[in-house]
Amino acid sequence: MSGPIHLFRPSFRVEEALAAIRECLECGWTGLGYKTVELEEAWCEYTALPHAHFLNSATAGLHLAVRLLRERHGWQDGDEVISTPFTFVSTNHALLYERLQPVFADIDEYLCLDPASIRERLTPRTRAVVFVGLGGSTGRLPEVASMCRERGLRLILDASHMAGTRLGGRHVGGEADVAVFSFQAVKNLPTADSGMVCFADAELDAECRKWTWLGINKDTYTRTHADGSYRWLYDVEHVGFKYHGNSIMAAIALVGLRYLDEDNLHRRRLAAWYDQALAGAPGVTTVPTPADCESSRHLYQVLVPERDRVMVGLNQREIYPGVHYRDNRSYRMYADRPGACPNVERASRSVISLPLHIGLGEADVRDIAHHLRAVVASLGGGRQ
Ligand SMILES: *Cc1c(COP(=O)(O)O)cnc(C)c1O
Repeated sequence: MSGPIHLFRPSFRVEEALAAIRECLECGWTGLGYKTVELEEAWCEYTALPHAHFLNSATAGLHLAVRLLRERHGWQDGDEVISTPFTFVSTNHALLYERLQPVFADIDEYLCLDPASIRERLTPRTRAVVFVGLGGSTGRLPEVASMCRERGLRLILDASHMAGTRLGGRHVGGEADVAVFSFQAVKNLPTADSGMVCFADAELDAECRKWTWLGINKDTYTRTHADGSYRWLYDVEHVGFKYHGNSIMAAIALVGLRYLDEDNLHRRRLAAWYDQALAGAPGVTTVPTPADCESSRHLYQVLVPERDRVMVGLNQREIYPGVHYRDNRSYRMYADRPGACPNVERASRSVISLPLHIGLGEADVRDIAHHLRAVVASLGGGRQ
C-alpha cells in the first residue's frame, strides 16, 4: 500500500452487499424478519451454536445476557461478576446497567483474564465471570469455563472480536452460557452496527427475543387464533428494549459471513508475518496465541516501552496504530474499583495494536515492523 497505513480499514464486497441490500429495498422489507432470520440461521450453521438472535449491537447483547441470567438465577443488586478492566467499556457497562458489581481480575500473557486471578477474587457473592476473547484469542477460556462449571458460576463470553475464532477445531461460544458477537463497523465481520447474542439455553433464547422488541409477544395470539385472524393483535409482557437488528445490516453481514474464513485466514497470515518480522526485536514484546486457537485475529498487539512516544514516532512515519485498551480504571467511571491488576496496568501503559486489515500484504507488514523497530530503538527502548 502507498500512503498512510491505518489500523483498520473494513473491506466490503461492495457489489454483493449492494445486491443484498437491493433485495431488501425491492421487496420493501428492511426491518426485523426476512434477512435477520436468514442471518440467524446462517450464523447457527456457521458456528454450530444452537441459538442466535440478531441485534443492533453487541452492547445490547451483553446487556441482555446479564439481564436474563440475572432474572433466571435470582441475582441481587450488588452481586459480583468477575470481569477484566482490559476491554472496551461495553463489557463492564453491561454489569452496571443491571446493578451488579464488576470485580476486576488480572490478565495473563494472552491479555485475557487469568484463571488464577479470578480464583483470588471469588467470594460468596460471585455469580458469574465475563471473559473477553481479546483480539480473537481464546486465552485460557477452557480453564475458566471448567472453573465456572465446578463452582456453579455462569460464564458470559464477550466474543466481540471472535467471529470465526475456533478452538480445537470448533467455533467458540459453546463453552459459555451466552456468547455475544459484534459486527460493528470496524470489527472483523463488519456491518455498520449490529451484533449477535447466542444463549446456550433454548428458553433464554426465546425469552430474549421478546426483550429485544419492547417486550412484545406476538406468539400468544398467533397460537390462539390459528386461522390467522387477530394477526395484528399482540401482548406486551415486559418493559423491553428496542434492541433487535434489521434486514439492511443482516444483508451486509450475510455477504461478510461468506468471506469470513477467507478473511480471517489472511489476518492470521498477517499476524504470522508480524511475528517473524518482530522476532527478537529489542524492546518489543509480542503476544502469544494458544496452540489450539485458530484466532479471528481481529487485533495484532505488541507491548513496547514508552508507548505514547512510539505512537507519535509511528504517526510521523504515516503509520496509525491503535490502543486496545486502557485499563478501564483510568476512566472516572471505574476509577475507584479495588483490586490490584499489575499486568493490566503494565499492558495499559505499553500496548499497541498494529495495523491489521485485509487490504494489507506481506510487504506492508515488513515495512511497519521495520519502522516499529526503528522508532523503539531511537527512543532507547531496546536497552530496557
Ligand atoms: C466493540 C466491542 C463491544 C461492543 O460492540 P458494539 O457492537 O459496538 O456494541 C463490546 N466488547 C468489546 C470487547 C468490543 O470490542
